[in-house]
Amino acid sequence: MSPKKPKIAVDMDEVIADALYKFVSLYNRDYNVPLDLEILPGNEIHHHVPEHANMKWFEYINEKGFFRDLPVIGGSQEVLKALQEKYEVYIVSAALEFRNSLEDKYDWLAENFPFIPWTHIMFCGEKIVNTDIIIDDRIKNFIDFNGRKLLFTSPHNQLITQYERVNTWHEVGIKLL
Ligand SMILES: [Mg+2]
Repeated sequence: MSPKKPKIAVDMDEVIADALYKFVSLYNRDYNVPLDLEILPGNEIHHHVPEHANMKWFEYINEKGFFRDLPVIGGSQEVLKALQEKYEVYIVSAALEFRNSLEDKYDWLAENFPFIPWTHIMFCGEKIVNTDIIIDDRIKNFIDFNGRKLLFTSPHNQLITQYERVNTWHEVGIKLL
C-alpha cells in the first residue's frame, strides 16, 4: 500500500477566487469607484468606497450569484492540479456565513476546478480541520490550527508578519511541489 499523502486545506475567497475584483466591479457600477482601485496594505474594500456606501458590500455578498462568476486567481488551477500528485487537496470554505453562496460556490468549483471531487470540498462555519497544511488569507483561520500555515497575500493581510507568506500560486508551487 502506498503511504498516505499529506493533506492540504485551501481557502476559496482571495486564495483561488477573486472576490475583491467582484466587489470593486460592483462598487464601480453603482458608485463610480475606479476599477483599478488600490487597496492600501491593512485595509478592506470598505475603507476605500464612499462613506454612505461602505456597508453595501454586505448586500452584494448576500445576493444570489455573487460567488458564481468570480475570476479564478492566477495559477491556482495549474498548481492545485499538480499538488494533487503529492497531497490530498481539500477546498475548505466558510460558505455557511452567506446562505446564498453554497450553490454558487459548488457550481463555481465544478466549472473551474472539476478535478476536485466532492469528497474534498468542505463547506463549513469555523474551519476546524486537521490537515497538515492550510492556505488561507485570514489569520483567524490559523488560531487553532496545528499544521503549517501559509498566509496567502491579500491587501488586508499585508501588514501581518508573523506567518509564512505566499504572494502567488507560483510561490505555493515552489514551496510545496
Ligand atoms: Mg479567504
